[in-house]
Amino acid sequence: MTETVLAIPAIQLLNGLQPEARKRAIAWSNACVPFINANFPGLTFRITNTRRTSAEQVALNTGGLSDLTLGWHNFGLAWDFAIIDASGHYITDGSHPAYAALGNISLQFGCHYPIIMKSGRPDSDHIEFHPGVTLSEIIHVSNIIDELRT
Ligand SMILES: [Zn+2]
Repeated sequence: MTETVLAIPAIQLLNGLQPEARKRAIAWSNACVPFINANFPGLTFRITNTRRTSAEQVALNTGGLSDLTLGWHNFGLAWDFAIIDASGHYITDGSHPAYAALGNISLQFGCHYPIIMKSGRPDSDHIEFHPGVTLSEIIHVSNIIDELRT
């Protein structure tokens, strides 16, 4: 995978990802452009969120927008995306078929999609990349590193 021209001017968001996740997000984005143009004419997409601080994640959890108080976004291993209609409006209905269609493209880059939330609904705008590592394992390692720093 190479970093070709980005369809989405989201370089600062991409830089929030770990290098291997960043490569996947770029490859996914580049694959999504011709796909959405061919299959959902008039729609576009963009990456909306990558790395989060602990405080941001806790706030989303408190607001009922995430099941987790610490998740893959906190480690730069997840990104969210938005589908935009022809008028430039963000389609917030995750059941719009473009979400699953674009999300499923990430599977060819070794990503995880869809993630099913505690509510039983898919987290339709969310893609993760963490080959062979569980969230509890990465939190455990992160805690050890934090302890070594103090
Ligand atoms: Zn997410």
